[in-house]
Amino acid sequence: MLRLLERLNDEITALDARSLRRRRQIAETACAPEQILTLVGADAPRTMLGFSSNDYLGLAAHPALAEALAEGAVRYGTGSGGSHLILGHSRAHAQLEDQLGEWMAPHIPEARSLFFCTGYMANLAVLSALGDGEAVIFSEALNHASLIDGTRLARARVERYPHCDLQALDAQLAACDAAVKIIVSDAVFSMDGNIAPVAGLLALAERHDAWLVIDDAHGFGVLGATGRGALQALGLRSERLVLIGTLGKAAGVSGAFVAAHRTVIDFLVQRARPYIFTTAAPPAIAHALLTSLALIEGEEGMRRRAQLRARITQLRTGLKQVLPADGSAWLADSPTAIQPLIVGDNARAMRTMERLDAHGLRVGAIRPPTVPVGTARLRIALSASHTESDVARLIDALGEALAGPWLEAA
Ligand SMILES: *Cc1c(COP(=O)(O)O)cnc(C)c1O
Repeated sequence: MLRLLERLNDEITALDARSLRRRRQIAETACAPEQILTLVGADAPRTMLGFSSNDYLGLAAHPALAEALAEGAVRYGTGSGGSHLILGHSRAHAQLEDQLGEWMAPHIPEARSLFFCTGYMANLAVLSALGDGEAVIFSEALNHASLIDGTRLARARVERYPHCDLQALDAQLAACDAAVKIIVSDAVFSMDGNIAPVAGLLALAERHDAWLVIDDAHGFGVLGATGRGALQALGLRSERLVLIGTLGKAAGVSGAFVAAHRTVIDFLVQRARPYIFTTAAPPAIAHALLTSLALIEGEEGMRRRAQLRARITQLRTGLKQVLPADGSAWLADSPTAIQPLIVGDNARAMRTMERLDAHGLRVGAIRPPTVPVGTARLRIALSASHTESDVARLIDALGEALAGPWLEAA
């Protein structure tokens, strides 16, 4: 074998040995709790009940969105034809940006918004554009990988602060005399489900004259009375806020937006490379998202958020009754759709996942480096489209899967 290939192969083998190798599966049907899946390399597709999608409101396969996407494609075609600064910026993109700016206006004075192809790119854009050579970025320890990559792309110096530790962050900010300070945090932590102390972060931003960048990937559509996310749920308002919301999770389509004071948005249009040097997303996507926003804030969104809350309560109550009495597996303290069941060891996480698999249930096993060593977990993600009996099936199977000895031959 080519020496260069051999090196890569050795690395993959080493991952396998540590139960860290990742495998993909092919979805044969639309995103829904019950889906036909084929594991890459396996021969037969299987019908599985899944608890790992980010489709929190169950909108990803909503007929009204498919229709809007088709209508958008008929009206605007498939390709945008260019970047936003060179002809790719359609009426649909502009309408979506206007609407999202209005949505965030109660929380950010003179709010405007900017649409991005993905949340990953939005995060790279915000941090690299605001985090110039004179800035220091204060980055929460459990931030999403895309925010970490954003700090790497920025010229700013980066300081991490301990998870949800306002006191430590206060001290770090006080010791810093940089011209520009930027605090950046997930609103809902993607592997833990807990909500950041955003009000406390904002108070610190005010005290130390800093920006507060909040990534609301898992809150947008889900949190707040009409689904506008963490800022609405917490009743916050400030010119210092820069909010990133993703549109491929609860919103059920694709893309992301940044909402901020109009001066910030004007600046991003000039300076954010992940906005400028890429082809604008298909206008049909933006067109479909207008329908998604209407669903989120309307009666259907209200009903779906209530359903999701009911499933979260059902899971937490039911699971606590079937977990092993020795405390070797526990449910993290999360009020959101993300419900991590921490089992500790990588192999135990994999073993539990395989046992659930035998029951036709699919839950993601999350291992280091995505989470700290020794905290491997099953990341249960709930959706408004899960039924009461779906969640009951998961509780029963988990009780069984965790009861027996786990360190046996797989
Ligand atoms: C999913 C996610 C992103 C990336 O969004 P995409 O639109 O999927 O690229 C960013 N931040 C957090 C916290 C996420 O969970």
